[in-house]
Amino acid sequence: MKHRILIIEDEPAIADNIVYALETEGFQCLWCATGGEGLRALDGKFDLAVLDVGLPDISGFDLCREIRKRHELPILFLTARAGEIDRVVGLEIGADDYVVKPFSPRELAARIKAILRRTAASPGIAAPVPVALPASVSAPPASAEGPDKMAGEFPFRHDEERRVIAYRQTPLELSRYEYRLLIVLMEKPGRVWSREQLMAKAWDSPESSLDRTVDAHIKSLRAKLREINPDIDPIRTHRGMGYSLKEDW
Ligand code: CA
Repeated sequence: MKHRILIIEDEPAIADNIVYALETEGFQCLWCATGGEGLRALDGKFDLAVLDVGLPDISGFDLCREIRKRHELPILFLTARAGEIDRVVGLEIGADDYVVKPFSPRELAARIKAILRRTAASPGIAAPVPVALPASVSAPPASAEGPDKMAGEFPFRHDEERRVIAYRQTPLELSRYEYRLLIVLMEKPGRVWSREQLMAKAWDSPESSLDRTVDAHIKSLRAKLREINPDIDPIRTHRGMGYSLKEDW
């Protein structure tokens, strides 16, 4: 079955080149010239989206954030300058890779194949980490618990089927790597994980270009947790060592 690629790029000449190169490689492509058009097109099924950072109606970064609210598909940015994409911004908003213009269409095709290979291991979210969660985490009781009963209880719940983690009964909207990092941390609250260990467990291709900063993802994850409860930081930093999830609640 052919992989379907959505290309959102306002310059027809570039888009033509990409479509030609990708179709030669056996991909099926749809080209949209604006972010709005692209967002509407995403209601169809695609395996990956290629986003130009400089679009006429919306920046590629904002578009990426919009897409991430509803879709998990891998995203690759096309940027006019290497400096245009801030690594941290790129990974915080959930991009998988980027290519700087001018690029060879073959290089782009190779990058796309690499992303699809690493995300192919499991559809939806790329290759989830195998997890052995404490029983209290993986098997939430069917009945809702009142907030008053929460004291002393581990406040995270993972709904594996829906790929949703709830914190204090509030479902978190997490990017792919925030989600994976939190899954790893939840594996053993209290355990200190080094950045390398987190990277190895949460990233399926730790050497890939945009994915190197564990710290940036931890930071954005913390911000999301703080929105739910500003009083506690459930993620502890162990200077020079790494991170752990708070175990005593
Ligand atoms: Ca452009």
